[in-house]
Amino acid sequence: MLKDILLFSRKYKIEFVVVSFILILFFQFFYRDSMFIIYKRINFKILMLLLSFIVFLVAIVSYPKIYKFKMLLSAFVLSAFIINFIIIDINMPSSLKIMGLINPHTKSIKLPENFAFKFLLTLLNLNLMLVIISNSYVTYSTGNTISWTAFFTNIILYQFIIMWLPLKPSSEFVIFFNKYNFSINLFLLFLIILFSFFNIEEEHNYGSIIVGLALIVFYCNMQVNYIGKLKLMMPLMCVLLIWGMFAHWLTCLHHKAHYDPLLKIYNRQYMNSIIDGLIDVKLGNKFSILMCDIDHFKKINDTYGHTAGDIVLHNIAQIIREASLPEGIACRYGGEEVIIFLREKIDDEAYNKAEKIRKMVKKASIKYKNKTIKVTMSIGVASTKSGLSDIHKTIKRADENVYKAKKAGRDRVVM
Ligand code: GH3
Ligand code: MG
Ligand code: MG
Repeated sequence: MLKDILLFSRKYKIEFVVVSFILILFFQFFYRDSMFIIYKRINFKILMLLLSFIVFLVAIVSYPKIYKFKMLLSAFVLSAFIINFIIIDINMPSSLKIMGLINPHTKSIKLPENFAFKFLLTLLNLNLMLVIISNSYVTYSTGNTISWTAFFTNIILYQFIIMWLPLKPSSEFVIFFNKYNFSINLFLLFLIILFSFFNIEEEHNYGSIIVGLALIVFYCNMQVNYIGKLKLMMPLMCVLLIWGMFAHWLTCLHHKAHYDPLLKIYNRQYMNSIIDGLIDVKLGNKFSILMCDIDHFKKINDTYGHTAGDIVLHNIAQIIREASLPEGIACRYGGEEVIIFLREKIDDEAYNKAEKIRKMVKKASIKYKNKTIKVTMSIGVASTKSGLSDIHKTIKRADENVYKAKKAGRDRVVM
């Protein structure tokens, strides 16, 4: 149970949410106005422009490499948000005045009605919601077009509303918005969190980064009366996104380099990394190699076509992967050959595991265009007790055993 939760947290990339929470708690309990003094030394606007430029740059450079539309869009909407913020920050005294937010008698700012910031933060949350529900796999140019459109729409729309509303001070819209601000934002946050649980595996979850941002945005929205707090949290939001984008970029590249796109299991490159001890997979001293080869696979291609062959291959690979868990790691070795590194299990235990996998493959029926395709598989097994130093020989023995299984009539395990 605990193991499942930990595994899920890792897949979900919970760290981004945790860091956001810590930031929020810190600002809630330890924030002092004196912290704002930092901006006496560094210029807030220049810092923000610099950070948003970095956000922009990371997104633009990474997009042609990993095609993550969500990442591009989130970076663009955050940059648009920062530009909007800087514009109203510059115009703050006058825009507050013309919006009827400055009390003409006391000259004090009527902060509870601080509409400009609340609306801007809500707009960002709405954008983040769109990011999270958007489909990652749009074409390259569509992704570019949508992101640029979102960027300019955000700036133009927001500035237009802010300039236009003062003509009708305390217009109905402002009153309406201020009244429902909390509920609207809570609802948006709820949707963002909900959608972050979908497609975790395929998307290498970018959702947690968006949830992290959305939590901070939500908190800022409730704290608009503390402009110093907002201005301190904003650079941290950028840093969080930059960190998230880099982490996501690396995960995507790692995935591209180590996964087989057809079989959706590890590829030969990953196998080599295991053999050379280059990755964090500890085989230990005791392990077995299971070499699997589908029987008469050429016939499947010849009878049903290459597309059917691909579908069969993908399905069988997934059966092998699932059946070999939790001790086994399955990698595509060649065309229709899969190698399994089986940790801890040797001799009889390894043989039994191989038998289990073979039977599951034999039992499976793969549907293709109203036809049911069945296949069998031969498995060669070899065990070792002397760890990585013996691995090449062990693989060779497993390979020889596949050959023996084929000669003995296929659909069997040879140890
Ligand atoms: P056996 O192993 O039982 O001796 O017979 P086989 O027909 O499986 O023999 P072999 O291993 O020599 O042939 C493997 C075939 O798998 C050859 C190739 O056409 C097919 N194949 C390899 N990779 C792919 C792939 O990615 N997609 C499809 N559709 N076929 C593939
Ligand atoms: Mg073969
Ligand atoms: Mg074969």
